[in-house]
Amino acid sequence: MKKHNFSAGPSILAQEVIENTAKAVLDLNGIGLSVMEISHRGKDFQAVMDETVALFRELLDIPANYHVLFLGGGASMQFCMVPYNLLNKKAAYLETGTWAKKAIKEAKGFGEVDVVASSADKNFNYIPKGFKIPEDVDYFHITTNNTIFGTEILEDYDSPVPLVADMSSDIFSRYVDISKYAIIYGGAQKNLGPAGATFVIIRDDILGKAERYIPTMLDYNTHIDKGSMFNTPPCLPIYTCMETLRWLKKLGGVKVMQEMNQEKADLLYNEIDRNPLFVGTAEKDSRSIMNICFVMKDEYQALEKDFLEFALSKGMVGIKGHRSVGGFRASTYNAMPRESVQALIDVMQAFEKQHVK
Ligand SMILES: *Cc1c(COP(=O)(O)O)cnc(C)c1O
Repeated sequence: MKKHNFSAGPSILAQEVIENTAKAVLDLNGIGLSVMEISHRGKDFQAVMDETVALFRELLDIPANYHVLFLGGGASMQFCMVPYNLLNKKAAYLETGTWAKKAIKEAKGFGEVDVVASSADKNFNYIPKGFKIPEDVDYFHITTNNTIFGTEILEDYDSPVPLVADMSSDIFSRYVDISKYAIIYGGAQKNLGPAGATFVIIRDDILGKAERYIPTMLDYNTHIDKGSMFNTPPCLPIYTCMETLRWLKKLGGVKVMQEMNQEKADLLYNEIDRNPLFVGTAEKDSRSIMNICFVMKDEYQALEKDFLEFALSKGMVGIKGHRSVGGFRASTYNAMPRESVQALIDVMQAFEKQHVK
């Protein structure tokens, strides 16, 4: 049976990306060696790194005064690397969910943290509005897509201080004006490749201001100076990221992807709003186009387990919601075809026919 992979992360990759990676695992470009067994400093892997960086720059329209890095450690390591490198006295954070809270916790180890706004009062089901970004801080940190709660900041804020964004789960899903940001980072495993690679896009003027010793591995300048080759980078995950970006370019780039993502999200949200069994958890003006969270309406709560089992029996994988929201979460990342979203809608309608008289 065909599986429809709605997992939140690690998550769906395009079939041709998986196939091309499998080929490179056996033999990279006919050189008679696996991409896993060659030196990261040799010309064959250097070509992979160079193309991946070039595709990042081209597809995201990254201005020349930015660096693109590939590191280990996941997005979670950036929660400490950002304040290590940028926080002298005070930083501002927007608290929009679990990942934002984890970033805030780390920053507090380095200085004062001003949480300018929070949606904790409603279990993070909306993006705060009307807050003012303070001007006396070293930077302002946001989480553009809240993977667990299904809310998303779909605009690029004008910030009077360097803007830092965790874009783990929405990078390459929509057009972003990179020039508004000082740092954008994320784990690859949501929209780009397998777990293991972390991307960092960083403007060159914001470094060198920290008033502390920074351990070599946690200093962005180390990795900038060595082109992400200070130590061994996650070679195979980077290779797969390159294949994903080739695929994305062939499809027409980020703007085309954004239209496709919006269409998929609209389809599913319309069904959630129409179907008497379900209700969406995020406020409508904060809804994510990547992670779509919904629950059973109160009067149908008892059917939750049955729906999960029914959906699973029809090939729907990974739609159980995170424990902090409950219910269901359908992640509709770039690689998720529209047909899979339609298949989930069909399942929701079939379940409705069984249970709503
Ligand atoms: C998954 C996720 C993380 C954590 O990423 P790791 O690579 O596992 O550290 C951080 N932020 C957001 C928004 C995420 O979705």
